Amino acid sequence: MSPRPGKDQYYLNIAREVCRRGTCLRRLYGAVIVKDDQIVSTGYAGAPRGVANCVDLGVCLRQELGIPPGQRYELCRSVHAEMNAVIHASRQQTLGATMYLAGIEVNSGLPVARPEPCLLCRRVIINAGIARVVVQLADGQIVSYDPQDWIAQENQEAQQQLAARARRTAPAREEVSS
Ligand SMILES: [Zn+2]
Ligand SMILES: [Zn+2]
Repeated sequence: MSPRPGKDQYYLNIAREVCRRGTCLRRLYGAVIVKDDQIVSTGYAGAPRGVANCVDLGVCLRQELGIPPGQRYELCRSVHAEMNAVIHASRQQTLGATMYLAGIEVNSGLPVARPEPCLLCRRVIINAGIARVVVQLADGQIVSYDPQDWIAQENQEAQQQLAARARRTAPAREEVSS
């Protein structure tokens, strides 16, 4: 018999089970929100209610067009697991809570090597006040993301964009050579 799983492992196992309900042909994702040691919400990636799923249509356009990770999310019909989990909880329930996230690659049936919320889900998670997002890597290691780091990252990127913009709009000057 394998040893009794720790709490993080226990909730990650549940997230993996939740993701099997997913309806995208590319990746299945499941999210579980835990507050004060209680599951307050779950969500999996699927089309909005009443809208045909990727799996019903037999096609996910992101998959078919080979869109790289992080781009063109609108081409997939899914509402993401993290968003669904947040929608189905109250703010009280998400504030300071932990989200467990697990995914399966549909093609291989293997766990997603390093599950990570997309940019839009990160923003939703930030606004829900979730304190920690826990995932399991391919080697079994359990790691967590701190949404505060995502806030810092977004601010840093904004600063870089502003600096680049300032360089573009600065009047052209002749190089002064000595
Ligand atoms: Zn899809
Ligand atoms: Zn997402």
